[in-house]
This record gives sequence, C-alpha cells and structure tokens, in this order.
Amino acid sequence: MEIIVGKRILSANAETAADNRRKLRAEGVLAVNLLGSPGAGKTTLLEALIPHIRGRLTAAVIEGDLATARDAERIEATGLSAIQINTGGGCHLDAGMVASAFDSLDFGALDLLLIENVGNLVCTAGFDLGEHLRVVVLSVTEGDDKVEKYPPMFRSANCLVLNKIDLLPHTNFDVERTTREARILSRSVEVMGVSATSGEGVETFARWLIEQRRNWIAGKDHAKQ
Ligand code: MG
Ligand code: ZN
Repeated sequence: MEIIVGKRILSANAETAADNRRKLRAEGVLAVNLLGSPGAGKTTLLEALIPHIRGRLTAAVIEGDLATARDAERIEATGLSAIQINTGGGCHLDAGMVASAFDSLDFGALDLLLIENVGNLVCTAGFDLGEHLRVVVLSVTEGDDKVEKYPPMFRSANCLVLNKIDLLPHTNFDVERTTREARILSRSVEVMGVSATSGEGVETFARWLIEQRRNWIAGKDHAKQ
C-alpha cells in the first residue's frame, strides 16, 4: 500500500517537473539542481561562484532547507535574489515547491536558476525538480566511500564537485578512486576539485556552467532540453 502511494507521489512529481522544465526552457533559463550532504559546502560554493558569473550570466537562487532563511540571506548578501523554501521538516525539495517559487522570479531577466536542495544524499536524488542539470557536491572530509554507498545520487550527476580540496592533506580521500567510481555510474560526469573557501577551482566551475548554458541554448550536449 505504501509503495503504491509512493509511486503515485513520484508520478505526480514527474508531471510537475516536466512542466517546470518546459517553462524554464521557453524562457531560456537553465536550471541546476545542487545536491549533497549537509555541510558539503553547497551554499559556500554558491557564494564563491557568484562573483565569477557576474556580468557573464544573470542568475537567481532557490534555497531549500527544513527551516530558517539563513542560506537565502547569505546569497542575498552577494547581491543576487534568493527565494527560501522551507520544507517544514521535509527532507527534499519537490517539483511543486519549486513551481511555487516561480511567481517570485523574473524569468525574462534570467539566464540561470540555481536550486540548492535540502542537504541529503538519499531521497533528494529521487525527485526531479524540472532541472536541466544536476551538480553533486561531495566534500573530501565526507570520505571517498560515498559514491558506491549512495549510487542514485551519483548516477544522476552531470557534474561532481569535490569540495574542500584544501583539506586533502588532512584526509585519506582518494580523488582518483572517487572519479573512477563516479564515471562508472555516470559516464559523462564532469569531476572537478574545488575549495569554495580558498576559491581554488571556482573559476573552472563557473566556466563549466557558462559552457553548459551556451550548449543548452544551442540544443547540444548533456543538459535536458
Ligand atoms: Mg546550504
Ligand atoms: Zn526526502
């Protein structure tokens, strides 16, 4: 019984997600679902990214959290508009929540919508939000066993950001092993090392996003249309 209910929820979500994706596509707004554990550095990565895309892409951010508007406030402090969605205890964003934020966004003025999901390596992977690309943030302090332990998350990744690489000398994290395992699950995944706090690698991430949007507008490459 519970399984049937779960399937119905997922199929309703898939329809709303497809609607979201069509609306975004019609407006030329590339949507990126940013996923990862709590503390992986998703918000810090966005804060570091924003100065690198300024003047190159116009972006807005949707922040998903169980409670508080803290992350949206951090993003707004950089000068970007941010909409906070509080899930009220829910452990993932769904397509309906994202749709409800659309009214507050000026799509005509946007190139890029960055959606920071609730910190969670499990069920966030199962909910399509209507995004065109998925970026998974895994910090090297979380350990290099996570790709094999949480396959759905990494299977759907277009880009894997290995964050906190400034801390690599203090860990036994194996970048090559992680890259190899991630590419088994998602053959074309782009893997990049970043330190959101020192800024290392952030320009590479910015350039990847800019290139993805250019290719997406042209109807090429891996982003969903
Ligand atoms: Mg956050
Ligand atoms: Zn959940």
